[in-house]
Amino acid sequence: MSRAYNFSAGPATLPEAVLRQAQAELLEFGDAGASIVELSHRGAEFMEVAQRTEAELRALLSIPDDYAVLFTAGGATTVQALLPLNFAHPGQRCDYVLTGHWGRTAVKQAAAVVDVHIAASSEATGFDRIPADADWQLSKDAAYVHVTANETIHGVEFRDVPTTGDVPLFADFSSSIASEPLDVSRYGAIYAGAQKNLGPVGITVLIVRRDLLQRAGQPRADIFDYGLQLAAGSMLNTPPSWNWYMLGLTVRWMLDEGGVTEFAARNARKAATLYRAIDGSGGFYRNAVDPPVRSRMNVPFFLHDASLDGAFLAGAREAGLIGLKGHKVVGGMRASIYNAMPEAGVQALAAYMADFMHERG
Ligand SMILES: *Cc1c(COP(=O)(O)O)cnc(C)c1O
Repeated sequence: MSRAYNFSAGPATLPEAVLRQAQAELLEFGDAGASIVELSHRGAEFMEVAQRTEAELRALLSIPDDYAVLFTAGGATTVQALLPLNFAHPGQRCDYVLTGHWGRTAVKQAAAVVDVHIAASSEATGFDRIPADADWQLSKDAAYVHVTANETIHGVEFRDVPTTGDVPLFADFSSSIASEPLDVSRYGAIYAGAQKNLGPVGITVLIVRRDLLQRAGQPRADIFDYGLQLAAGSMLNTPPSWNWYMLGLTVRWMLDEGGVTEFAARNARKAATLYRAIDGSGGFYRNAVDPPVRSRMNVPFFLHDASLDGAFLAGAREAGLIGLKGHKVVGGMRASIYNAMPEAGVQALAAYMADFMHERG
């Protein structure tokens, strides 16, 4: 077996320990006589998995009691569509700050049912920065302000929690949740598809201040109602139980490794190694993002000569480094270096980049 270092943005690399445990438990979970994925979600075994996963996620992220945690299917994009239905009334003003592709996606999901107002955007400069606070045009009567904590494609990450007064701040943390300590109390809602930093694709975490669930929202089916979903323990219908179980294993692995403080330190070292390889290449590689807000999770970079891209990717594959092709929206390369990416993987990538440059530079 030869597992490569996998820099894919999502679905993304998982900790080997998690995959091994899932493998060991695949045929029989404990002494249940069946796999967890074959058992009723209402049975004792799965209920325990679900409850422990929530308790351990609460411990990992220090989630206060006045916040509910929901586990939902449909991915982060579905949450983007359901936030306006649950937390804004029809046609109500909602503020969006655009710092990359996923902010734009969030706007598309909301635009049909609320009055989307772009309070700030860095689109004019190619999403290479976070717009300065002074340039944000927030609406007093907005239902919420939406930001993307880390833009997975453009590689831009908030370093400070924006201040939005009495208007609750909603944040898409799909690609940076659990990458560093998080002050949940500063947010109205935080959501994350699991497939970047929390486990396999197929389940999404929504952390929401409980009082916001009292809002009437808009006419919607029960299945789209977060208040009803909470009352049903995120099991209004059959939940993605395998994904929930895998998310639980991943969260426990993060706690065992030392929690978010430890990952913040590792992630800072990994990002520094990679940006040093880019910035120190004399222009052979480049990343155009404003340095203070460069993402520590997703590092997009370009070769000075795009005709070398194919050779770079082929050589990387040979060196056991996969998933480096950039997203089609921006092109070039992208290295996603989530919590499950070992430091040795980033060092191997930096070494390969130096070798390739010396051969081709
Ligand atoms: C991947 C991603 C999404 C989309 O997630 P889906 O689960 O595919 O809907 C949304 N926002 C961000 C920041 C992402 O990284």
